Amino acid sequence: MLNKKSVDDINVKGLKVLVRCDFNVPLKDGKITDENRLVAALPTIKKLIADGGRVILCSHLGKPKGEPKPELSLAPVAERLTQLLGQEVKFAADPEVVGPNAKAAVEAMKDGEVILLENTRYRKEETKNGEEFSKELASLCDVFVNDAFGTAHRAHCSNVGVTNYVDTCAVGYLMQKEIDFLGNAVNNPERPFVAILGGAKVADKLNVIANLLEKCDTLIIGGGMAYTFLKAKGGQIGTSLVDDEKLDYCKDMIEKAQKLGKNLLLPVDTTITDAFPDPIDAPVETSVVASDSIPADKMGLDIGPKTAALFADAVKTAKTVVWNGPMGVFENPILAKGTIAVAQALAETDATTIIGGGDSAAAVNQLGFGDKMTHISTGGGASLEFLEGKELPGVAAADDK
Ligand code: AMP
Repeated sequence: MLNKKSVDDINVKGLKVLVRCDFNVPLKDGKITDENRLVAALPTIKKLIADGGRVILCSHLGKPKGEPKPELSLAPVAERLTQLLGQEVKFAADPEVVGPNAKAAVEAMKDGEVILLENTRYRKEETKNGEEFSKELASLCDVFVNDAFGTAHRAHCSNVGVTNYVDTCAVGYLMQKEIDFLGNAVNNPERPFVAILGGAKVADKLNVIANLLEKCDTLIIGGGMAYTFLKAKGGQIGTSLVDDEKLDYCKDMIEKAQKLGKNLLLPVDTTITDAFPDPIDAPVETSVVASDSIPADKMGLDIGPKTAALFADAVKTAKTVVWNGPMGVFENPILAKGTIAVAQALAETDATTIIGGGDSAAAVNQLGFGDKMTHISTGGGASLEFLEGKELPGVAAADDK
């Protein structure tokens, strides 16, 4: 369990509380197209309001690269948060983020009021964890709360630097929930513990594979990364995605699984096409072959039906399942069957099911299985680094209990 000071351990009555949230939401024509992250931030904000704090919210949005970009202003977030909270969230428009406007807005606050600062990445120091901007942020508040799990794997001014200049630094409910679920699933799982990894490249998930192999009972590999494993075992993989530099790594992992007595499941059949669909959701002709005998001119783009059944069976006997990465090119409905089958298996089990952020979270939500999962992480990169067993700087920076 997380041993960090949380919002339940502090008294913020009458105090200025700077809360780092993850309001990095997708925007289209100035409108928020997915507000999951805003909804996920509400419990902490409501708690601090109820306790009589003066709540100063901050976040980054997109990549303005250190200068004000009106299309990446957090103004639409303040508007939507106002509706979601049923209370005004005043937007402290300020190109310097912590400039005269923001300071004046903070000075004018009363207990229980909420303001939102401008996009922290309007300042170029933000992503460099610069001292100056960290001090400016700290000067606004008495207490700091970090509830931005999505950026916890980065050390920036607004989640790490600022903690050097504020006496009390706690984590919010969302951060606590993410760490408790992901941490428990990986470090203290109810067994059997099945980890499912997919997605494009082996190289992106080297440490995740190694760490999960140690911790789980069964490791399932699907998606594009499976073909490098299949080739490492001597299979014919045609023109499928492969990372030749990682063949030795895959051989090591296969050997390690044997030594540790772990079950490493790879696809037994695969759905093939002539080429990668262009555009990605274009109709494609497919057929299914054994995963180790893909014809030289064909490309594997999804797990086959036998593999889907094999993976679903492994899920059925599990007590804990962690999943990160799609089983195929799920953006194309014809090549999404394997990913859907795995999502379905997770939806049907009583096991604790944890979905790492990013593509697998998007797939599970899109397919309508979101409310069937125990926990869907809000952080892509952060949840991956967590599954690697790394300590996240944004978490480490908070005070211990
Ligand atoms: P990642 O960001 O590593 O989780 O990878 C997600 C991406 O992997 C998605 O965009 C999928 O389309 C892609 N992907 C999954 N399976 C394959 C495959 N067999 N070949 C190529 N790309 C794949």
